[in-house]
Amino acid sequence: MDEKSVVAIEDKYMVNVYAKRPVVLSKGKGVYLWDLNGKKYLDFTGNYGVCILGYSHPDIVQAIKKQVDNLIPCHGSFYNETRAKFLEKLIKIAPKGLNKAFLGNSGAESVECAIKMARKYTGKPEIIAMTGGFHGKTMGALSATWKEKYRAPFQPLVPGFKHVSRFNIQKIKEAITEKTAAVIVEPIQGESGVILPPEGFFPSLRELCDEKGVLLIIDEVQTGMGRTGRIFACEHWGLTPDILCVAKSIAGGLPLGATLAKEEIASSLQVGEHTSTFGGNPVACAAACATIDVIMRENLPEKAGRLGNYFLEKLRAVQSKHRIVREVRGLGLMIGVELRVEVLNIILEALQRGVLMLDAGRNVLRFLPPLIVTKKEIDKVVMILDEILNEESKRVCDSVSSQTS
Ligand SMILES: *Cc1c(COP(=O)(O)O)cnc(C)c1O
Repeated sequence: MDEKSVVAIEDKYMVNVYAKRPVVLSKGKGVYLWDLNGKKYLDFTGNYGVCILGYSHPDIVQAIKKQVDNLIPCHGSFYNETRAKFLEKLIKIAPKGLNKAFLGNSGAESVECAIKMARKYTGKPEIIAMTGGFHGKTMGALSATWKEKYRAPFQPLVPGFKHVSRFNIQKIKEAITEKTAAVIVEPIQGESGVILPPEGFFPSLRELCDEKGVLLIIDEVQTGMGRTGRIFACEHWGLTPDILCVAKSIAGGLPLGATLAKEEIASSLQVGEHTSTFGGNPVACAAACATIDVIMRENLPEKAGRLGNYFLEKLRAVQSKHRIVREVRGLGLMIGVELRVEVLNIILEALQRGVLMLDAGRNVLRFLPPLIVTKKEIDKVVMILDEILNEESKRVCDSVSSQTS
């Protein structure tokens, strides 16, 4: 099938809910992707942060192949050795005290389970979320998500959700009532523009939640698995959540989500109260085992921290040359570049030049490269961004001067 036909068929039959990029991807290896015409792309999106080890990592491929030959599905009401191995590995890398996990298939699903656990354990209905927060788009997760564009058409959402000014301890304190079950927070807001919490926020939040008897749900769907320089971002602040949501990169590219919780909280769910037909299927678990093994063996969180600092430094040098760059920020290999202009043009221009970049809101470029990326590849992306910003600055300048003349 040629490129034109693929685009025509997807446009004809697929529900039009994705802002499509004009490229048909057909092959991936390491940090690179190829389109149907054989053009090569350096991928700094990591498929929205999913491909933490890049594409088709040999260990993941081998683990999946071996599992597919043995058993593909295994409902949670039966036991399975691959799932058992994965659970052991997952609990071992989790923040201390989180020793139970529910396995689902996506980020939104891991948030749904967190909401249900919090309500069931506390017997209370209210959840406090942050302005700018993103937790997925199923009805429960959407109720915790902030963006009005995502919420408004689907009212009424699940009742009991309140949004308070992000990372603001005082506002959270004021919002807590005797009906509050939990606070849900991303360690770094991803979709909203790579927004980091102020120093001291998370330790204060943990203290506040303990004092008020409110559960703390940390959504690490995007930040987890080494992305920010630690296995989980909450380790940066020595933080132990009551409930932790993980998904995106946990199975190195296959659909898998996990909701981790302290034993007493998780155990409030009774048999039958929350299940998922595909949750914890052996193929995804096999991929996740390989993913965790490689992350630990190659010390990838430490590498993400080191390369992230290098990348930030290079981007700040670019910032100093271009007035249209407002801010460069990030932690590990989760990096945002906020511009004074919209980023869509830049993303399309980069695509032309063989580099894939993400947006996070209208004016933030977001980088979530695989953790196996090299300095040389970072240099290349920075160089191409610099070139594009040169042209973009010139374009903005020209249009301003033509308006004023
Ligand atoms: C992507 C994301 C989700 C939703 O994950 P899906 O797999 O798309 O449902 C939830 N929370 C955060 C922080 C995310 O980045």
